[in-house]
Amino acid sequence: MSIPSVREMIARLVAEPSVSSVHPDFDQGNRAVIGHLADWLADLGFRVEIQGIARHPDKANLIATLGPDSEDGLILSGHTDTVPCDPELWSNDPFTLTERDGRLYGLGSADMKSYLPLVIEAVRTLDPKRLTHPLVVLATADEESSMDGAQALVDTGRRLGRYAVIGEPTSLKPIRMHKGIVMDRVTLTGRAGHSSNPALGVSALEGMNHVMSAILEWRDAIQKQHRNAGFEVPFPTLNLGHIHGGDNPNRICGHCELHYDMRLLPGMDNEQQRADLLAHLQRRLGDSELRLVMDALFAGVPPFETRADSPIVQACEELSGHPAGAVAFATEGPFFSQLDIQTVVCGPGDIDQAHQPDEYLRLDQLQPCIDMTQGLIKRFCLS
Ligand SMILES: [Zn+2]
Repeated sequence: MSIPSVREMIARLVAEPSVSSVHPDFDQGNRAVIGHLADWLADLGFRVEIQGIARHPDKANLIATLGPDSEDGLILSGHTDTVPCDPELWSNDPFTLTERDGRLYGLGSADMKSYLPLVIEAVRTLDPKRLTHPLVVLATADEESSMDGAQALVDTGRRLGRYAVIGEPTSLKPIRMHKGIVMDRVTLTGRAGHSSNPALGVSALEGMNHVMSAILEWRDAIQKQHRNAGFEVPFPTLNLGHIHGGDNPNRICGHCELHYDMRLLPGMDNEQQRADLLAHLQRRLGDSELRLVMDALFAGVPPFETRADSPIVQACEELSGHPAGAVAFATEGPFFSQLDIQTVVCGPGDIDQAHQPDEYLRLDQLQPCIDMTQGLIKRFCLS
């Protein structure tokens, strides 16, 4: 089989719908995308392994290795899923890659179905016998929803490589930090009763008023304790995003629910901060009759940081000509960190175009991405 041109590879991946969503009506598998990549990589001499994902029979990760069989090489990684789209808001069919004004339009063109075709293009002429350290191409499932693909890798405990680049759209600027994400729900249960006599109930709404004050107090404290000047918003944030309680003005509210989102800095542990907040709220409620339950609305993403002096950070800085920074979105980076893989996020396209109608990749991002990938392979795989 001959491997298509880079443009054709991107077009074929865009043409395979692979939406992942926590909403089952929108959720799709990614095996068609994995299948194309596996064919092309096998054709280049990669040893191809397809790793199924528990809970999702129609989804898989692809691990493709070229060169020696060791765990001290370079991983180039991209996710194979996209977010859902509204085709009626697009100027063209989101699943037909369309060139216009020096841009390639299509769902996933920037985030991130172009990166792995560009990696394949970068290795097309590479002689596998020259590799002294393995090159691993990794394609993951479900990054946009559950991160179950990255979690499946962590569960195997296999390190796969010493260094990794995740080609999320950063306009080819290296990123070595992002915040963690926690989304939780606090439920307060009191006792409903007639409004005419406060002794007939215990108001969960009034209780929630105290809980919200306590949350904001706790937020002030962590914002004073934790700072990182590398971020545009240099402190942890906590947003109260949703509240619902009670039904009628003449009934004491028996039940109230609050949802919030926290963005924690590298060095802060999601679970430890949640436990700390819970203890603070319980202390505040004291011996009140109200019952408080805190639970997670999604699995969460830990904060991510790779040291500034890591060889992969320095290599990406030199090859891109940009200092490594921080972003406001989450990636699979912290999962790789759990496997002791030093990771940088750096890829073609702009995050502002991701998750939008008329998502596009600028054509002038293609060659610099190929050049940078070849530079990385030279440094980390050919000694
Ligand atoms: Zn992405």
